[in-house]
Amino acid sequence: MYPPTHVTLEGNTAEPELCELCSTLDFKDLFEWGLADVEIDFGTTDELLAREECDFCRILGTLCEDGLDHLQRGDIPSSPSDGKDRQRGFDLSQEIQALFVRDPAHCLTTKPCLVLKQSYRREYFGPIVSLRTVRGEIRGNLSLEDRRHVDFDLLKRMISKCATTHEECKRDPRDDEEMILIDVDQMCLVQVKSVQYVTLSYVWGNNPIFKTNQSNFQRLQAPGALNKVSNLTRDVAAVVKGLGVRYLWIDALCIIQDDESHKRTQISRMADIYGQSCLTIVALTGTSSESTLPGVSTPRPQTLSVVHGMPFTFHLSGLTKTAHDQVYETRGWTFQERLISRRCLYFTDRQVHFECRHGCTSDHEQIFPENDRRRYATPLNPLQPLHSLDKTEKFSLTTLETFTSMVCQYTSRTLSYPSDIENAFLGIQAFMSRKLSWRFVAALPMGVLDWALLWLPRGQLKRRSWVSTNGKEVRPPSWSWLGWEGQV
Ligand SMILES: [Zn+2]
Ligand SMILES: [Zn+2]
Repeated sequence: MYPPTHVTLEGNTAEPELCELCSTLDFKDLFEWGLADVEIDFGTTDELLAREECDFCRILGTLCEDGLDHLQRGDIPSSPSDGKDRQRGFDLSQEIQALFVRDPAHCLTTKPCLVLKQSYRREYFGPIVSLRTVRGEIRGNLSLEDRRHVDFDLLKRMISKCATTHEECKRDPRDDEEMILIDVDQMCLVQVKSVQYVTLSYVWGNNPIFKTNQSNFQRLQAPGALNKVSNLTRDVAAVVKGLGVRYLWIDALCIIQDDESHKRTQISRMADIYGQSCLTIVALTGTSSESTLPGVSTPRPQTLSVVHGMPFTFHLSGLTKTAHDQVYETRGWTFQERLISRRCLYFTDRQVHFECRHGCTSDHEQIFPENDRRRYATPLNPLQPLHSLDKTEKFSLTTLETFTSMVCQYTSRTLSYPSDIENAFLGIQAFMSRKLSWRFVAALPMGVLDWALLWLPRGQLKRRSWVSTNGKEVRPPSWSWLGWEGQV
């Protein structure tokens, strides 16, 4: 449906489109064997971004946008000059110069970087690397394409490596119950058990979204009934299909939303639903069910370009950095979904990250040669330290620290309904109970209740209360963090 646009080197003998500046550059010297200091002025960032028709400026432009993004957030990736106090105060309303710099003494690499400069302030981004060796071979054994569309075969290979070699990522054998799932071949709801399925974790957004309820449940079981539900459902179904899986679970469609008893049992089974699924697709940069998955139906910005037979690319920000300011990461419900999943595929604007209990990588990183990859970067999943533990470490320092950090992250998030505070944390409790035999009272671990009662507020707290469906006011116990609104 969405074929990747291949630009393999064999087919890429055409003369590159280069701007006036780039056509004077000696790319072989700059990227493959040169060592001397180089500094080339690419004009202001606006000028660089405007030279879209140039094959080299275009990829520099993607790196430049990344850099501007970092400046805006005030978080600079570990740059070569780390360790010194650096002036970060760029004035983004003023012009910023873009330089192309090779400065081995300062950068600790002979690869050129993009430098964003304003008066005496400089920040380094990159480096930009050629994937070709001096002898002209392509490093890394994957076919190169411009990477604007997601390559499903590549994702499949990443997942199958996990499925075949990681002991800790195997599914716990468990009796399956019948579930409502989406059949992506027929695009309709089905009721099945013991099948392989993918789960979706996403943000509902502020607009009303299409849901399954008692009145349309029958109709949605007819083939084709889910064809036009939302952009997100369409894209996710295309990915699931591309990965060779047939079934998909999405909360809005697979829980009958106005059937209270169905809803209650499904919510209590969250740890199973996400834990038993073979993969969770995380729409990390999406803000609603109308957002698309980048690289599926809509192209991503170009991160690889071939000039004179040389494929150029650069390292992109890691998962933790990208996740940092996403709406997804502020929502209460999404917190446990990705935490209790065995494998997650995070769709972001530039790349698809894969995280399992073993480590993480991304589709972009996969094109770098083995020793050039920053493999197993900081996990985004705070539960990761727990996977290697056994039950003898029930209340060890690691488990207590992990629990503390989870509560701290969870309480910093927002919930649309204050009454969801315990529900959206139940999956995590179930996970801890299964993994470490913890038991909970008001979301505090009972075995170390004396310790758990010593939680502290991080700021102003407000007493949590809500009115239940029978009109009574509900207040969770004040001695638990459940009883309060605000971060602890
Ligand atoms: Zn150019
Ligand atoms: Zn794995």
